[in-house]
Amino acid sequence: MNVDSRIDALRNTMIEARATAAIVSTATNMRYLTAFEGVIDRGINAACVVTETSARFFTDSRYIEAATAAAQGSLWQVHQQKENLYVEVCELLHSEGHSSLALESSVPYGRFSFISEQFRGAVRVMNRLVEEIRCVKEAEEIDRMTAAAAIADRGFDHILGVLATGKTEAEVALELEFFMRRNGSEEMPFAPIVASGPNASRPHAIPGERRIESGDLVVLDFGARFGGYCSDMTRTVAVGEVSDELTRMYDAVLEANEAGLAAVRAGMPCVEVDLAAREVLGRHGLGEYFTHGLGHGVGLDVHEMPTIGARSSHSLREGDVVTIEPGVYVDGVAGVRIEDLVAVNETGYELLTHSPKELIRV
Ligand code: ZN
Ligand code: ZN
Repeated sequence: MNVDSRIDALRNTMIEARATAAIVSTATNMRYLTAFEGVIDRGINAACVVTETSARFFTDSRYIEAATAAAQGSLWQVHQQKENLYVEVCELLHSEGHSSLALESSVPYGRFSFISEQFRGAVRVMNRLVEEIRCVKEAEEIDRMTAAAAIADRGFDHILGVLATGKTEAEVALELEFFMRRNGSEEMPFAPIVASGPNASRPHAIPGERRIESGDLVVLDFGARFGGYCSDMTRTVAVGEVSDELTRMYDAVLEANEAGLAAVRAGMPCVEVDLAAREVLGRHGLGEYFTHGLGHGVGLDVHEMPTIGARSSHSLREGDVVTIEPGVYVDGVAGVRIEDLVAVNETGYELLTHSPKELIRV
């Protein structure tokens, strides 16, 4: 992982923000900037403090040993906080003469208020201070997502043997999670979605006690995590014989997925990728049932930049890793979604999700 270039990119953003110091304190942004393994979790009390000449990582006694080991050979200097992290950091920055500070827009409001009170100078909240930098992935990051996607593919293959009438959505979701954890996934990037029959009309349905019935379409949306990096995929499976209407819905979504993928390449505006899939569903008279954007970036978080939707302002760049996930949701009837994870390159994309996409009947 090229940590030096990440720190340099942050410094360039600080120059744009006319800030001579930055405090980065959200877990995934810290994880990205430091590339520390086995240090940063959601419970950590820590901050990356970057100036033009220094890169310091502050944390408390619970994490200090792991952080010191992880920082060996890197630009990061590890400091143990004593009393209050932000009081100490603001004092230090003041003593070094800093009068302008950049913060992430994602910091909780309470922390923002506290730092604003402590820091004797201008505090600038930067929208996506680190998130912009995280968009384009290095080869090592893509390798980790490829491994995560492969675990999820195996999970799908496994769950095809588990899906059956009479099973509850919650049972299937739990089995999927167990399988992926047993087969190399770290903590789930998000709770697997298993939505059957009419429940599938809610794109982010929570798996419940509904028992799968013959004639259902079941939407399975899940991912694994490897080396800190997430994957995200969706497949929709038929249980027993499904109606011709549902099969037509499936075929239309598959065609939209393929049209979206065909539009993926570096330089392509995200709105046009979204439109390529949306047009297909419109042609099938299903446009009004496609109620979300076509895709999103994936990385350390399962939802990252760029967004691929009707209002996106980005164009795809080489190294972006994004999902292509058209869906159709008919209230109280059914839902279909097919989601692939791809790494964008100059001529198109590298497919990271390899599970079959023809309608599978179990
Ligand atoms: Zn998904
Ligand atoms: Zn997704």
